[in-house]
Amino acid sequence: MSRDYFSNRRVLVTGGAGFVGSHLIDRLLAAGDEVLCVDNLFTGAKANIAHLHDNPRFEFMRHDICFPLFVEVDAIYNLACPASPIHYQHDPVQTTKVSVMGAINMLGLAKRIKAPILQASTSEVYGDPEQHPQTESYWGNVNPIGIRSCYDEGKRCAETLFFDYHRQNNVEIKVARIFNTYGPRMHPADGRVVSNFVMQALRGEDITIYGDGSQTRSFCYVDDLVDGLIRLMGSRDGFTGPCNLGNPVEFTIRELAELVIEMVGSKSKLVQEPLPSDDPTQRKPDISLAKKELDWEPAVPLREGLAKTIDYFRTLQN
Ligand code: NAD
Ligand code: UDP
Ligand code: UDP
Repeated sequence: MSRDYFSNRRVLVTGGAGFVGSHLIDRLLAAGDEVLCVDNLFTGAKANIAHLHDNPRFEFMRHDICFPLFVEVDAIYNLACPASPIHYQHDPVQTTKVSVMGAINMLGLAKRIKAPILQASTSEVYGDPEQHPQTESYWGNVNPIGIRSCYDEGKRCAETLFFDYHRQNNVEIKVARIFNTYGPRMHPADGRVVSNFVMQALRGEDITIYGDGSQTRSFCYVDDLVDGLIRLMGSRDGFTGPCNLGNPVEFTIRELAELVIEMVGSKSKLVQEPLPSDDPTQRKPDISLAKKELDWEPAVPLREGLAKTIDYFRTLQN
């Protein structure tokens, strides 16, 4: 029997002061849930949740999930983890710790209180994929000792822990493999491609293309992703995933740069910078499983989502 997650449940969102987490919380509150946001504000910001402080169904707790957490809730979304390469490479040991120790603590919590738990995993588990587009059955092509490994292997180990807690302790798990997501509340200095290009275009600075710009990504607008996460949490009993959530429309990084320049109306020029090591050359989700199990597919085209994102970054400049 599938659960009804819209009946004043108490929901824990770790990483709730971050980009994706804050949008997820908005949607959960709008649906009538009570929300406990747990975040250590490493990459998140109070500003992302400032509009919620007068909401009696919202509570914020500053806490690092590498340490045990004893609370009583009905469902857990585990999003706490720095997500942009410059953030997760800033303190790579901490990145592995939050991925692994954070997962153990949240799974221990889920086991004790018998609550379902959703893991924000990532397309990075596929590494630099040799299969294109990526299906959930693909095991990936990941460097275990490179500069991205703290994140990629941390998230892979977290998936292992989720499935072992499920098999060993009957914890109800839902694992989402999230592909590149963008939208308002991205950190303007997080170094990710959408925030970088939009900020550079707005400031009239050069647009920094790493490598020749022929590498591809598929960009999902945050509202679509949040819809997928909520559907996955509410999916049928026994459906664990992993389930890809992302927009299957693929762009080269050069195409993205040209689109941003056009939409901002900027005079910025494209400049090439060295490609960081282990940078995946292509990425595009196969979302057949999400379509079948969740009746989900993204609705917001890149142009429409970029317009809202550009508007947001403009407000930061004023
Ligand atoms: P984000 O950096 O904006 O949010 C992460 C949040 O986790 C921040 O608020 C941060 O302060 C918090 N956090 C970090 N370490 C913590 C700790 N030890 N204890 C408590 N809180 C901690 O990133 P995001 O883009 O919102 O990503 C959210 C989740 O989704 C992450 O787990 C990320 O790996 C995953 N994901 C995101 C994308 C994407 O494109 N945005 C893609 C794949 C996966
Ligand atoms: N844990 C937690 N909150 C809880 C229950 C457990 O943070 O409500 C932590 C606990 O501190 C432990 C981890 O989750 O380190 C794993 O718990 P589990 O019960 O699986 O393992 P054990 O306690 O037996 O090591
Ligand atoms: N990228 C780029 N210029 C930038 C930032 C990123 O060309 O200023 C490239 C980066 O090398 C990668 C792609 O854009 O190929 C996506 O990078 P991002 O950091 O957003 O995400 P990820 O590599 O984790 O998919």
